[in-house]
Amino acid sequence: MQQTREPPKFGNAREAIRRAFRDVAFPEKIAPSEAANRHRFLRNPGAYSGPWKDSPEPSQHLEDPTNSLAMTSTYAIIAVIGPSQMGKSEIGNNWQVHSVIYDPADMAFYSPTRELTASYVTTQINKLLEECPDVAARQLDSASADNIYLKQFRGCDWHFLWPTGPNFRARPFSRGRLDDYDDFDQDIGDQGDAVSLFEGRTTSFQGYGWKLYVNSSPKLGAKRGIEPLVAAGTSKRWWVDCLSCGDPFEMAWERLDFQRDGTALEAASTVYLGCPTCGGVHGQKDKPLLMKTGRWIGRGERAVTGGKTGVIEPNATDSYWFDGTFGLAPWSTLARQYRTAELRFEEHQDEGPLKSFFQTKVGRNYVSRSSADAPVTADALTERAEASGYKMGVVPDGIVAITMTVDLGIDRFSVMAVGHGVGNRTWIIDRFDILTLSDGITKLEPFRRREHWSVLYEKVLSRTYPLQRDPSLRMKVFCTGIDTGGTDDATDNAYAWWSDMVTGSRKARRAALPATAIMLLKGGNKPGSRLLPAPTVDAKRQVKGLPECELWIPNVNRMKDIADYRMRRPAPGPAYMDIPTDFPAKAIAELRAEEKVEGLWEKPEGVRNESWDLFVYALVVMLRMIGLDQNLTNVPQWARPPRPKGAARIAEPTNDPDATPQPPTPTPAGPRVVQAKPTGPTRPKPRRSVRTVRSH
Ligand SMILES: [Zn+2]
Repeated sequence: MQQTREPPKFGNAREAIRRAFRDVAFPEKIAPSEAANRHRFLRNPGAYSGPWKDSPEPSQHLEDPTNSLAMTSTYAIIAVIGPSQMGKSEIGNNWQVHSVIYDPADMAFYSPTRELTASYVTTQINKLLEECPDVAARQLDSASADNIYLKQFRGCDWHFLWPTGPNFRARPFSRGRLDDYDDFDQDIGDQGDAVSLFEGRTTSFQGYGWKLYVNSSPKLGAKRGIEPLVAAGTSKRWWVDCLSCGDPFEMAWERLDFQRDGTALEAASTVYLGCPTCGGVHGQKDKPLLMKTGRWIGRGERAVTGGKTGVIEPNATDSYWFDGTFGLAPWSTLARQYRTAELRFEEHQDEGPLKSFFQTKVGRNYVSRSSADAPVTADALTERAEASGYKMGVVPDGIVAITMTVDLGIDRFSVMAVGHGVGNRTWIIDRFDILTLSDGITKLEPFRRREHWSVLYEKVLSRTYPLQRDPSLRMKVFCTGIDTGGTDDATDNAYAWWSDMVTGSRKARRAALPATAIMLLKGGNKPGSRLLPAPTVDAKRQVKGLPECELWIPNVNRMKDIADYRMRRPAPGPAYMDIPTDFPAKAIAELRAEEKVEGLWEKPEGVRNESWDLFVYALVVMLRMIGLDQNLTNVPQWARPPRPKGAARIAEPTNDPDATPQPPTPTPAGPRVVQAKPTGPTRPKPRRSVRTVRSH
């Protein structure tokens, strides 16, 4: 065929079509991680700014989970467990970038609460849009297209939600993100967990596929939340090749070695990553090279030098164990933080910092050090009492301060006296219930009758205890802690009584007590809170002209862990708890009344636990009065055991009666440990001056 005339001038049709149909054209197929490399430009003033792919932070471990989120992958759920600050959220962010540009479909993002979701959008998502002009350019212009809970793009919407029944029922999504999953309610509106609820709404997408990305730092243990989800999936772990011998090993916390028995700084300065085959030592500077050899090894696969063999077991869930050793934190920081937490445990039996370290820095649920040991039994405590060598109502050697603690009952005050010594040693020295007023007849009603509280002054606050070694010398009470009972009436009564006590009474010939003589307490039930947060001041109940009346709300669950550890100490020494020979069997049973169920202390129905509560509160009182100082330096002279007459004022008591008198010594600088007097005959106890009813 011959062309007879000049064709009309056209523009470049190919280019025009490309321009006009860019948004509806079939997008290029690229992996989500590649989308991040192409389109994300990080802006972190003070830290790295530049293209995502050139970021100096280790990110090799992010690639596989990110790419499994592509709709072409065979997995429905991608689950990541790991510490904070290891890119778990970035995986989701990169997926959202990829979705908008290369594979549009609506997506729902959930974080634990509405507030957290709003905060994530205003800090992370808005920043992401600034870092990705190519994504921002696809945002719709309408007024409703850009608000906190909805962002609209050409071809898809991002919904930002939080886990409630209606939010899962309202409409189905084929793509979802659950961030910080272990902070989600695990039974949303009695309908089940968020993963099941999301999955239950995906039936309309089954033909096209759906994807859910779930990530969290672990908090809920092995049976709930992120850990069982990851454990049941492909369960991939990060393996690297030794730079010395080439053998592969899993890069994980267990491979870090450092001086185990020194200070936190010594741990930090000696840390290295060791090869289990050849013992090869890898320092922090070797980490980038090690990371380059890294690959994920899942169920069915086996690591071999330079790669892996085997075939991954089919699974609908692709799951990953992130470990702090290949995260952002330098190994020296991990070692220092670990040793700091461990020293806290060694010195104060407080596992809280260790637990938090493993959850947020290593990325795994913490298994209590006591979980393998059977709890100490009531029988063992009875044997301990029989061997203790002191009776109720006297102060054995070694006690530096005495606390009283009081629990409210409908018809009684339950009371315990505990002696505290150097190195967190404790001695229970008394336990009784007050059932009547001083007249011995009028029955107590602490909840109903405010005036009944006055009995506490005589029977508790002004009480003194004789020293076992010299009953003519008596010791005063350092501080008294009172459980305010939780009900409004009881709290009102407690505040009113406290006001009386710090005011004094000429009529009752009672001087004003310092505000620190009494500690008003209430058990806190937030498992994640601090051991002893700053007290709250109740302005409504405040009396003009008086000091502020503070209410202390300790983390009772953690305090009970500490008390339990101390009770487990098998032999006299630091942190050991001693019990008088005549301590009632019923009170020993109370000490063992509660049990730990899934990390929380619980009291079985109908069981009495007063002695346990009172002992736990005694530890709280000392924590308030002297902090974490094992030497009890801040116990004032008046609250310490009085010196025998004629003894040098600042000479330390000696355990050996035949020892030559010591010259006065200055206050010792280092830790000192006062040893308990060995078991021996006790002197007869003087008759008690106050009538009380013993618990029996
Ligand atoms: Zn090696």
